[in-house]
Amino acid sequence: MEIRFYPYELRLKDEFTLSISSRRTTPVVMVEVEYEGLVGYGEASLPPYLIENQSSVIDFLTRVDLNSFNDPLNIDSILDYVDNLAERNYAAKASIDIALHDLLGKVSGKPLNKYLGITIRDDIYTSYTIGISNLTELNQKIKDASEYKYLKVKLGSENDREIIFTIRELTEKPIFVDVNQGWSDKYFAIDMISWLAEQNVILIEQPLPKDRIEDAIWLKEKSPLPIIADEAVQTSKDLVQIEEAYFGVNIKLMKTGGIREAYKMILKARELNLKILIGCMTETSCAITAAAHLSPLADWVDLDGAELISNDLFSGMKIVDGTVKIPIEPGTGVKKLT
Ligand code: MG
Repeated sequence: MEIRFYPYELRLKDEFTLSISSRRTTPVVMVEVEYEGLVGYGEASLPPYLIENQSSVIDFLTRVDLNSFNDPLNIDSILDYVDNLAERNYAAKASIDIALHDLLGKVSGKPLNKYLGITIRDDIYTSYTIGISNLTELNQKIKDASEYKYLKVKLGSENDREIIFTIRELTEKPIFVDVNQGWSDKYFAIDMISWLAEQNVILIEQPLPKDRIEDAIWLKEKSPLPIIADEAVQTSKDLVQIEEAYFGVNIKLMKTGGIREAYKMILKARELNLKILIGCMTETSCAITAAAHLSPLADWVDLDGAELISNDLFSGMKIVDGTVKIPIEPGTGVKKLT
C-alpha cells in the first residue's frame, strides 16, 4: 500500500467568527492511500485553534510507511501502527484512518456504514452553522439556511442577546448554541442558559472554558438545557472525567483521530448515558462524508462543514431539505472532482 498527501487551503464562503477567532480560510492536508489500483481518500482539517497545523501533519505523514502492509482489510493492525508512531496528532491520524476506511469499503465492495453495521435513515437532520455575525449579516445567513430545520448559532460575543433577538425576529427554527468557551462566569452562564431555554434553543455547547470542571458540574445541576462538551473532550478516554459535568459530547473525526475511535467513543458515551452530537470542522466533502456514515448513531448532527466552503475537492454527502444523504457506494462514497 502506498500513501500520498498534499496541502490544500479551503476558502470559506463568508468570514467565520467564533468567540476565540475569525478566519476566511482553513488549511487542510489531503491524503490518498492506494492499493491495487483502488484509492482511499482522507483529510486532516486544521483550524487555527488546534495545536496541529499543515507542517506537523505533513511531518507525521512523512513518517508513515505502508509498504509492509498488503491487506487493507487488516485495518486494525495498520491503525495500531499509525497510532504508535507518535502520541496525539489526532487530525493527522484521522486523515489516514478515513482514507483506510474508504479503501477498505472499496476493496470489500461495501459502503462504510454497512461495514460498520450501521443502518442509514432518511430523517437525519443537520444543523446549519452561523458564525458570530453583525445584525445585517444575520438576515442573509438566515436566508442561506432556508432549507435547514436546525440552526447552530455561535455565541460568546458582546451581543449574544441581540443576536438571538434578531434571529427570533426572522425565524422560529430550533437552535443549537455553541459558545466555544466564551462565557467566563458561571452565574452569567446560568442566566443566559435560562433565558435561551425560553427561545427554542435545544442545547448549549461548551459554555465555559474547558478546564473548569467544578463550574461545569455546578452548571449541569442548574441548567434547564442539555450542555454538551466539545473542547473539553478529545477521545473516548476523556468521557469518564466529564460524565458528571456534561449531558453529552460533540464527537468529531479530527478530535478522535478518525472513524475507529469515533465509533468506540459513541459506544462508550452510550454506556455512560451521554447524548451524542456528531460534529465537524470546516472540511471538504471527503471528511464530512466519512463522519456522515456515523450520523445514524447520534442524537444531533452538525455536518454542514463542506457547505461553508467554496472550493470543495469532492462530491459526497448531500444535504437535501436539511437532511443528510449518504452516497450508497463502496467506501465512504466520495468522488474526487476533476
Ligand atoms: Mg463546538
